Amino acid sequence: MTITELVLASHNAGKLKELQAMLGGSVRVRSVGEFSDIEPEETGLSFVENAILKARNAARVSGLPALADDSGLAVNFLGGAPGIYSARYANGQGDAANNAKLLLALKDVPDAQRGAQFVCALALVRHADDPLPILCEGLWHGRILHEARGEHGFGYDPLFWVEEHQCSSAELPPAEKNQVSHRARAMVLLKQRLGL
Ligand code: IMP
Repeated sequence: MTITELVLASHNAGKLKELQAMLGGSVRVRSVGEFSDIEPEETGLSFVENAILKARNAARVSGLPALADDSGLAVNFLGGAPGIYSARYANGQGDAANNAKLLLALKDVPDAQRGAQFVCALALVRHADDPLPILCEGLWHGRILHEARGEHGFGYDPLFWVEEHQCSSAELPPAEKNQVSHRARAMVLLKQRLGL
């Protein structure tokens, strides 16, 4: 099936722009916000489940094929936490509080045990009841720093050490981060699946 138009299950204009740029001109990306203001509850226990339920909801309200992404940070020492709860790790108090909570959880943990990965799950459904969603995952391995570094990015970027670049992901220029991030890796796979 050739997809020329899809709805992105996100109200975030920045994400829409980023995904539109990654997909190129042959697919028109529209926001689910054009069709509904109601965001579904993310009740899944995994990134993939949450991406699928967001994609199904967007397809249902729009009548279009729908793409959703769900992402977060999984820290090995914490058994994969904060994981799907990354955005609300500190009970909805925002990025600074999330980062402070993470540093506290890893207090006195040595570098060798501070491995972590950013995870991005993409789900594309052709229609709301699609029994075979296209699923692509991107992982970006790194380690959690002992203190914040860098001004770019968002979320946990200031605490995420990128070995290949010898800097935190908040020190990477955004264009460079968008070449190597978990989201970029998942998008490369999705484009291959769509033949783009
Ligand atoms: P969402 O999938 O955009 O809602 O992201 C969920 C949460 O995961 C964000 O609020 C961040 O805390 C974290 N996160 C996801 N991707 C990144 C990233 O590229 N950098 C930093 N934090 C991220």
